[in-house]
Amino acid sequence: MFRRILIANRGEIALRITRACKELGIETVAVYSEADRDLLHLRYADETVCIGPAPSSESYLNVPALIAAAEIADVEAIHPGYGFLSENSHFVEVCQSCNIRFIGPPADVIAALGDKVRAKEIARAAGVPDVPGSDGPVKDEAEALAVARQIGYPVLIKAAAGGGGRGMRVAHNDVSLVNGFHAARAEAESAFKDSTVYIEKYIDRPRHVEIQILADQHGNVVHLGERDCSMQRRHQKLVEESPCPVLSDEQRTAMGEAAVRLAKAAGYQSAGTVEFLLDRDGKFYFIEVNARIQVEHPVTEEVTGVDLIREMIRVAAGERLSVTQDDIKVTGHAIEFRINAEDPDAAFKPSPGLIETLIAPAGPGVRWDSHAYQGYRVPPHYDSMVAKLIIHRATRREALATARRALEEMCIEGIATTRSLFLRVLEHSDFINGEIDTGFIDRFFGQQR
Ligand code: ADP
Repeated sequence: MFRRILIANRGEIALRITRACKELGIETVAVYSEADRDLLHLRYADETVCIGPAPSSESYLNVPALIAAAEIADVEAIHPGYGFLSENSHFVEVCQSCNIRFIGPPADVIAALGDKVRAKEIARAAGVPDVPGSDGPVKDEAEALAVARQIGYPVLIKAAAGGGGRGMRVAHNDVSLVNGFHAARAEAESAFKDSTVYIEKYIDRPRHVEIQILADQHGNVVHLGERDCSMQRRHQKLVEESPCPVLSDEQRTAMGEAAVRLAKAAGYQSAGTVEFLLDRDGKFYFIEVNARIQVEHPVTEEVTGVDLIREMIRVAAGERLSVTQDDIKVTGHAIEFRINAEDPDAAFKPSPGLIETLIAPAGPGVRWDSHAYQGYRVPPHYDSMVAKLIIHRATRREALATARRALEEMCIEGIATTRSLFLRVLEHSDFINGEIDTGFIDRFFGQQR
């Protein structure tokens, strides 16, 4: 097992990884930007290193600074968390050349799966159904039009290197297709320095259902059930739950097996997520793999009892998975709410600033993963998530009751948060009945205006 790990991230996930390391008896090295001197996990780390100014490009994405910190602090491994360098195959190669273990999949696996066009090819070859669409990248307007007319409108133009909902455009006709094609390419070029786009059938009101997987270096791959992440705003997740309220046991098994087939075909190692869309007829289609730990991983930890961060660290050190597929049982129902420093009543405008009051919810069935504390100032430079409220109860109905109670207890003053949105959503019959799709939030706000 590793003696010392550097955590190349910030916020709640850096704290989450610190906690896992402590429990494994591993020392931690925390890195931070000049805007992040107050991060909670710095207090628990064995060593802290400032890696640069506030902008991520000069700190959390600064490979030379991170490697220098890792070498000076003499760590054996780096955990990247999510975002930042977590799916950057170049960074993985640099770690490898410096003899530092990257806690995640191998560089070539990240590179292959990070290209969504290649990921779809791997899926197809493994017999995993993907969303019908173009056969690979679409090069020009004429090809885009031909593909779109052939699969039929509406279609979605997507960036091959895409993430975070960027570089994606819906087109309902030839005119919006041509505009969307150029807009998606420009956005992809500026966000990912890669303008490659492809086209998919736009699935009508789907649910987003994803499978958590774990794989070790010895060829063992397991899946840990699904998470339903249909509650999204602009293709960004807000609430995630497990099990998915509408999935049958047969669908669950089929999806889980498909995810494992894909992971094996890709030579996957570490924790990862295979994402699918579930259409209104119950058919599922692969969309992409997230080759890293995800924000919503606690939902799966709660229902399976498997500590995913611990498993990631263990398998990176060469150990075998501590569970087999037969060991994995889903118990009860878990839901996560992303508490973001955003104002839902002002078009989700970011609301950084000083947290004057913070009362975290607690009590039976409540888990609070957060780096926030009273007196903490949320910096404006990074992702707006300040906490994850995770509920685990015997049934979905009980989980919703506990969620209401916990959100009512929770008090954050000084900044706006998404709490008020969730309290309203919890009163909505479609959510209560588990009858939502990825357009729910956008329609909900459409109605309220
Ligand atoms: P990103 O990597 O940017 O997050 P994804 O491919 O994971 O992009 O898709 C994000 C979300 O966009 C999905 O959860 C879903 O809401 C929507 N989406 C993606 N592909 C389709 C599709 N073909 N039809 C309908 N919605 C889609």
